[in-house]
Amino acid sequence: MTASTTDGFSTRAIHDGQDFDPRTGAVIPPIFMTSTFVQDGVGGFRDGYEYSRGGNPSRDALQLQLASLEGGTHAFAFGSGLAAEDAVLRAALQPGDHVLMGNDVYGGTHRLVSKIWERWGIELSTADASDLDAVRAAMRPSTRMLWVETPSNPLMKVADLPALAELGHDAGALVVADNTFATPYLQQPLGLGADVVVHSTTKYIGGHSDLVGGAAITGDAELAERIGFQQFAVGAVNSPFDAWLTSRSLKTLAVRVERHCTNAQAVAESLVGHPAVSAVHYPGLPDHPQHALAARQMRGFGGMVSLQLAGGAQAALELVRHTRLFQLAESLGGVESLVCYPSEMTHASVRGTELEVPADLLRLSVGLEEADDLIADLQQALGRL
Ligand SMILES: *Cc1c(COP(=O)(O)O)cnc(C)c1O
Repeated sequence: MTASTTDGFSTRAIHDGQDFDPRTGAVIPPIFMTSTFVQDGVGGFRDGYEYSRGGNPSRDALQLQLASLEGGTHAFAFGSGLAAEDAVLRAALQPGDHVLMGNDVYGGTHRLVSKIWERWGIELSTADASDLDAVRAAMRPSTRMLWVETPSNPLMKVADLPALAELGHDAGALVVADNTFATPYLQQPLGLGADVVVHSTTKYIGGHSDLVGGAAITGDAELAERIGFQQFAVGAVNSPFDAWLTSRSLKTLAVRVERHCTNAQAVAESLVGHPAVSAVHYPGLPDHPQHALAARQMRGFGGMVSLQLAGGAQAALELVRHTRLFQLAESLGGVESLVCYPSEMTHASVRGTELEVPADLLRLSVGLEEADDLIADLQQALGRL
């Protein structure tokens, strides 16, 4: 019952790769918790399965779903978002190649290239991805990869994917989009010109803060072959159980993200104009610098909001002591709301670099609780500053 390509997003999310079990009729495909597969004589593989690092039905089911939802032809599920990123870097780059990244990408992405890959001859620099002239000026003859994250973390800047894809391709670079914040429901970078999409499926795709995983998706068969070989040869695969949980989660992605967007919009609007708040960063606010671009490129504005406090770092640290529903934790995209202090948490690894984030900034992952309760929680905490 694999859905046709003319079906809409949620139909594909629910049916692609999710055929019922042919033996029992179980509506939900079983979890294949197995490391190896019996062979019918040497080399007689059933359905091609040999050993779970190379292929596992639960991982394949998820990969089919992901490829369908991102509009790609091939998807690879990894043990974490960074493992997926690492495989893409290995598959695409040679020593001497230069990677140009947005200057507010996820801190761990910058760390992966600056602390690991620079030692193996990869060059790295960054530019403001929301400024096309700055990106153009930062390209080098050796630039082989342009890495874009939009909306960005934690400042919610929006980058123009079609324009950046054209700019990258003109220079002979592969264009990679980290689509973790937007999810394929809000934005499909492959359709906007990117060559590869990466995800931390730990976040909105997993959606329940109960797993760690990652994915890389592409429509380029030759690149897919190389990423697939990295996945097999290096081995940072997603476990069958995590793959199964992620498949379960993808089926509700659209309804969850719709609610994340409505709640985040309400929370962002409730913070604007509060005397203790000096800035609110959310692409859904009409005065966000790239509001029009976000409206054009995305189906909604997402569930992430960041704010800066008039009372500086002290006020930010004080606020997180008083929220009740917004729990202080790293990560994002789950059903529960979280607050994070990026400069000492998610972005501690980029302190002292050009990716350093303001010390008065808090990042909110707006969950699926009642919007009124979330707003009341923030108002009471702000009232105590
Ligand atoms: C969390 C995150 C990553 C890294 O993913 P892990 O699953 O933690 O390895 C990459 N990019 C973005 C935007 C993230 O939020």
